[in-house]
Amino acid sequence: MHNLSRKVSARLTRLRCRIVGHNIKLSKEYQTHQREYVCDACKCQYTEDNNGFLTPLTPKLKRVNEVMEQFYLRRRAKTA
Ligand SMILES: [Zn+2]
Repeated sequence: MHNLSRKVSARLTRLRCRIVGHNIKLSKEYQTHQREYVCDACKCQYTEDNNGFLTPLTPKLKRVNEVMEQFYLRRRAKTA
């Protein structure tokens, strides 16, 4: 029963997000100025695409963000 009510409330949260929009907050900012966001209500994660629009944060995109960060830091360490 408890599981079921949790499922229902998760569905209601998603419905709320669909109606009033996500309550998006910055969750992480990289040195590369790439940002990751999380919705406070449904915990969906987002990042910015090449055009600066929010796009769902997939594991692949998260990996790209991390690799770009490492690349940036390594390059900066070399020139410093
Ligand atoms: Zn949401």
